[in-house]
Amino acid sequence: MMKPKLFDIHSHLNFPQFKDDREEIIKKMREEGIWTICVGVDEKTSLECVTLADSGGEGFFASVGMHPTENGNEFNMEYYRKLARNQKVVAIGECGLDMFRQKKDDLERQKKLFKKQIELALEIDKPLIIHCRESHKETISILSEYAGKGLMGDIHFFSGNWEEARKYLDLGFSISFAGPITFTKEYDEVIKRAPLERIMAETDSPFATPVPRRGKRNEPLFVGEIVKKIAFVRGISFEETVKATSANALKLFLKNVIN
Ligand SMILES: [Zn+2]
Repeated sequence: MMKPKLFDIHSHLNFPQFKDDREEIIKKMREEGIWTICVGVDEKTSLECVTLADSGGEGFFASVGMHPTENGNEFNMEYYRKLARNQKVVAIGECGLDMFRQKKDDLERQKKLFKKQIELALEIDKPLIIHCRESHKETISILSEYAGKGLMGDIHFFSGNWEEARKYLDLGFSISFAGPITFTKEYDEVIKRAPLERIMAETDSPFATPVPRRGKRNEPLFVGEIVKKIAFVRGISFEETVKATSANALKLFLKNVIN
């Protein structure tokens, strides 16, 4: 199996923002050795991600799940289990808790939805992609309930402080950084103190475009800007950071494929 040059572990290339040039972007990614995981947020988009991954060739993967703010639907375990068995599906999510966009009285619904996806991840032995905004305490508490069961995953678009990061790391999770690290110093401490073998880079495209392209649509092709900033903050070379973040992604998401 080939190895990626850069690995953008979280993108939404299935979104309509890419309807005119999706194929072109995927072609360029292939040429530049940029791999990605296309992440679903509900039933429809999860299926879209799997379909894209099936035709996207080597280095294009999918994650299936239900985002906490996708209201109004029950988690259809049978539907997701079927999708999740596809070889190109390397994770369950994005799932988790979001108290930034939702009201407090939605927390119990979100917790139930999250736990169903944790159970699916354990059942099929694939890692989680976790979305968490303004609910780190609750998310850490839920993940602690499953400690010792072999649950793995990534805290995507990491938005917490070092104390919170350390708790996730202690539970065995990895964290990934997105565009905001290129225009705020807020995450510098976490970037510096987290072990190099537990961090990854992501774009969350089409959102959260890094400097110097801030304000435009984001693409997996820009993931190098995130890696560059991680290298700068840690005071290590770009090459070393590329190597580590890509290796970490392979180890977490492709352990069944690589070994
Ligand atoms: Zn996302």
